[in-house]
Amino acid sequence: MLPDLERLIRLQQLETAVAAARQTIESFPATRERLEARLARHAAGLEAAEQRLAANKAARREIEKETAAIEKKLATSREHSMAVKTNKELWAVQAEIERATADIRKLEDRILERMMEADELSSDIEAAGQALAEEQATVGEEQRRLEQERDRHQALVERYAGDREEIVSGLSRRLLETFDTLMRGRKGIAVSEVRDGRCRSCQVRLRPQLNNDVRLNQRLIQCESCQRILYFPIAAGDTAAPPA
Ligand SMILES: [Zn+2]
Repeated sequence: MLPDLERLIRLQQLETAVAAARQTIESFPATRERLEARLARHAAGLEAAEQRLAANKAARREIEKETAAIEKKLATSREHSMAVKTNKELWAVQAEIERATADIRKLEDRILERMMEADELSSDIEAAGQALAEEQATVGEEQRRLEQERDRHQALVERYAGDREEIVSGLSRRLLETFDTLMRGRKGIAVSEVRDGRCRSCQVRLRPQLNNDVRLNQRLIQCESCQRILYFPIAAGDTAAPPA
């Protein structure tokens, strides 16, 4: 392969890799936010379950207070029943006692309902706590992976100037200018592969003679449609393109 063409391909690979790395680095804060939002959603789920249990307990305390007040009244009525003088008074007190007893039974039913609800809420809390712990582990793992990836991309970006210098030192000024102009005008792709007889960037089919020339990788040939510099990809280990 023509050494200049090889350098241009390497330069293009470097530019493409660094552009992708920069883009990935830029996307990291948003990715991090998404991960944090996932954790926050699970934490909110746990908090809501805990609040429901607290509300249940408060409601149960209210019912217990109400029950205690009626029990106190019932004790008074019972004492009173010992001291009544007339039948009429006795019936009235007995009616009070019956009402109070019925009320207490209803309140005890409500306490039981609350207790059963509390059991369900406790298992909700346990499930939400477990889901949060699992999410924390998953998110933690992803955050670590993300940081490694960021470091890797960061290193690529930091090495860029040196790597580029090393590659372009072998290129003529005119060739480098052509490359840079194409990079700016052709969306960051100055060097394009030819595959199945087409320029892979603009998809325009090459004339057969041009295609044959490109396959040799011995001349700098620009796409007649998009002007990108063309090359024929050679599989690892091969030194020349297979015959057309
Ligand atoms: Zn093209």
